[in-house]
Amino acid sequence: MNPQSPFPSVDRVLNLSAMQALIARFGRTRTVETLRSVLDQARARWRDGAPGALLSEEDALARCAHLLEADEQPSLRPVFNLTGTVLHTNLGRALFPVEAVQAVMDVLTRPCNLEFDLDSGRRGDRDCHVEDLLCRLTGAEAATVVNNNAAAVFLALNALAGRKEVIVSRGELVEIGGAFRIPDIMFRAGCRLKEVGTTNRTHLRDFEAAISSKTGLLLKVHTSNYAVVGFIATVPEQNLAKLAHEHGLSFMIDLGSGTLVDLARWGLPSEPTPQEALKAGADLVTFSGDKLLGGPQAGIIVGRRDLVVKIKKNPLKRALRLDKMTLAALEAILRLYRDPDRLADRLPTLRLLTRPAGDIEAAAARVLPLLQEKLAGNYAVSSCACASQIGSGSLPVERLASHGFAIRPAKKGRGEGSALERLSAAFRVLPVPVIGRIEDGALVLDLRCLEDESGFIRQLAKLSV
Ligand SMILES: *Cc1c(COP(=O)(O)O)cnc(C)c1O
Repeated sequence: MNPQSPFPSVDRVLNLSAMQALIARFGRTRTVETLRSVLDQARARWRDGAPGALLSEEDALARCAHLLEADEQPSLRPVFNLTGTVLHTNLGRALFPVEAVQAVMDVLTRPCNLEFDLDSGRRGDRDCHVEDLLCRLTGAEAATVVNNNAAAVFLALNALAGRKEVIVSRGELVEIGGAFRIPDIMFRAGCRLKEVGTTNRTHLRDFEAAISSKTGLLLKVHTSNYAVVGFIATVPEQNLAKLAHEHGLSFMIDLGSGTLVDLARWGLPSEPTPQEALKAGADLVTFSGDKLLGGPQAGIIVGRRDLVVKIKKNPLKRALRLDKMTLAALEAILRLYRDPDRLADRLPTLRLLTRPAGDIEAAAARVLPLLQEKLAGNYAVSSCACASQIGSGSLPVERLASHGFAIRPAKKGRGEGSALERLSAAFRVLPVPVIGRIEDGALVLDLRCLEDESGFIRQLAKLSV
């Protein structure tokens, strides 16, 4: 201790009884470290002559408690997704049903037969826990799974067409958010991209003319996040499959989302299924686990056994394999698909997508007066019809009728934009951050994905604008 210093010593502060409570809660090491840095910083500011740098013991304790408390908030945590995009990539895409949560808990807290064959007592294959289900549900001969669909495409390209040309239509050279671009993936996978046709029209003869001894694969990419309309032509999958097979080649489809059930059954727009793609003659189909399928992040590869075997033997498969949590969740999700009649009740993604507009409107009517009261004077809140989207590159043009709020600054004119930014920031600092979207001069909160209505209402008291 430096007798010349006007600052309390670490020991003196540590002796305060309130400090013992902090130690009990946060641990001695962290508490002492935090206290030291509080005092060091104050000393440095005092030496620089900063006004008000001096600290009493109580000040140091209060600051220490505040820092420890602030540090308690995990970085990754739940939010309210009121963006209107159900499968929001930045907000974690699909939500798990309890069955998947339970399955993950089980394999996390106890040993499991991840790679152990219970029949023979020998080493097993981790994919076997989902392969049969995938084959039954899609009609495929074989299946394998990897980290995500980007990995699935990458691995399949590398395993089946390394150093070869992969023929794909110019209309399908997609970019999916976050740097998944077909030409780049192709290059990294060691394939040569052979683009054919034009942006809007590609014909079978374009593919035919491009086939040579260098060809390794014919590829179709589902244009999942945009739509080309007007004067267009694409080649039906059956024709591409036939052409590939006539030349002894394989035909692969990157489906993107890929749901295992026809969404039309719930009045939703149809999205192509792996079953259909395989029926049309595709040798291999890849799709995501956490898009319309409603499961964990995963890339699913289904198709011809010899091709799947080749993929599994590729050393990259080991680098891209799934962990036991994901496998457990994926198996649980796939098991739900065996009973499609109850799927809309059990699978959160489908439940949210099929939520009736009237239901959402009723929720908006319940919450509206509370929000109006909270924001009175500063912002005008009105209930509004809005349009949700599926998101994550599924059905890019389709919209689902929904309901929510449009919140506008009460004062028109200058400063309106910053008032809106302030409001969205205030919603984001709530204990469970609320994420909406700014549109036409309003903060729009789409209530389609608001399932914890009481939780939302409870924390409104903390909204500070
Ligand atoms: C979403 C998507 C991908 C990437 O899938 P991830 O599971 O996000 O890696 C690849 N291709 C298409 C067509 C997609 O829609």
